[in-house]
Amino acid sequence: MALIVTKFGGTSLATAQRVCDTARRLVAYRQAGNQVVAVVSAMGKSTDDLLALARDVNPQPPARELDMLLSTGEQVSMALVAMAIAAQGLEAVSMTGRQAGIVTTTTHNRAKISEINTERVRRALDAGRIVIVAGFQGVTVSGDITTLGRGGSDTSAVALAAALKADLCEIYSDVEGVYSCDPRVVPRAHKLSEISYIEMLELAAAGAGVLQMRAVEFARNFGVELHCRSAFSENPGTYVREATVESAIVSGIAYDNSETKVTIRKVPDSKGIAAKVFGEVASANVNIDMIVQNSSEDGFTDISFTTPTGDVERLRGLIEEVIARVGARELILDDRISKISIVGAGMRSTPGIAARMFKVLAENDINIGMISTSAIRVSVVIDEAQTQRALTALHTAFGLDADEVFEETALSVEEQAAKAAKGRA
Ligand code: ADP
Ligand code: ASP
Ligand code: MG
Repeated sequence: MALIVTKFGGTSLATAQRVCDTARRLVAYRQAGNQVVAVVSAMGKSTDDLLALARDVNPQPPARELDMLLSTGEQVSMALVAMAIAAQGLEAVSMTGRQAGIVTTTTHNRAKISEINTERVRRALDAGRIVIVAGFQGVTVSGDITTLGRGGSDTSAVALAAALKADLCEIYSDVEGVYSCDPRVVPRAHKLSEISYIEMLELAAAGAGVLQMRAVEFARNFGVELHCRSAFSENPGTYVREATVESAIVSGIAYDNSETKVTIRKVPDSKGIAAKVFGEVASANVNIDMIVQNSSEDGFTDISFTTPTGDVERLRGLIEEVIARVGARELILDDRISKISIVGAGMRSTPGIAARMFKVLAENDINIGMISTSAIRVSVVIDEAQTQRALTALHTAFGLDADEVFEETALSVEEQAAKAAKGRA
């Protein structure tokens, strides 16, 4: 008897019919003699709808209340899946994050799982029930509901799989696995049969929305092998695990257009300035990514960095204060940027990959605004409007194109913008 933890994304639960199909999959697993846990996301785009509703009421909704609202999406799904299983004649019990023992930090809207008390889930499994857990949510030690950041159901599932020492962790979504690039943007993307934790971590951090980055961190830290696959087919998906084959130089390409470039112009070039600026930014608990400091001209320098667009409003006042304090000229914000990253563990032993990337972009008339690298990643910031062109050119240049084209309709420009807005949330 195996213990299987599965996770179903919003698309797999978007309609009553799909809820029943998901239930059927779980019933089949149970009838084959397994213990089954299913972590569920909110139906379809309902998290987006709840967010929009909150913002209609208050453009800056209090974080605690937002969590109270957003967590309801997953509760709808969990109850419906449990009902659908009951209709198919098996016993199921749904649990909120709290009931499933998922304890988190207190940072509302992006809490981290600190502990999972699996007792209640275990008891239900031992009693033969299929357990349906609301993803994306947990509870603080003082009893407040939290959410784990967009895409957080992935993390709920992997953390539960780790805590329960599951034999199998399957992440079901609307694509057949992890592709060399988002197949809705680059239809020639190919499905990877496997990818190492470290590469998946870099891709997720670089914006590949197919898995939440925290989920990959959990998987790597606790050695949970993930199988990312489609809820709409029986085809094998992508295994995310410790590398078993030699790494490609470039395994995948990701983009992220959810960040804003913040530039502070004409900062007096003296000792301790960067420490002052970034000290303030850190005190606002805001993540920053790329940093560029231009060479000094007449004793002045420009400092630029990127940060999630959703955090800019929190940052603006602080930076304006710093500007006044240090006598800098002005603050410039640009959210029409996109970060393009190529990722591959084979890069470590192959020089010249960054140069090749820059050459391909130059040949396609794409200007590079910022650059950052890690041992297995090169990222550049470009004009957002050139995202698809850059991805397609790099995908071809690094030999990643599949023979066949991703058959589902690619995202329209409006849908891509909506996706970007989701990233900005
Ligand atoms: P779910 O709601 O099931 O969690 P998501 O929308 O969060 O699904 O993630 C799946 C989506 O991730 C796909 O529809 C695809 O557009 C996008 N995606 C981005 N990068 C990749 C990639 N490298 N491989 C596969 N899908 C990707
Ligand atoms: N429903 C949440 C979201 O849309 C969590 C998830 O889907 O993983 O972000
Ligand atoms: Mg997701």
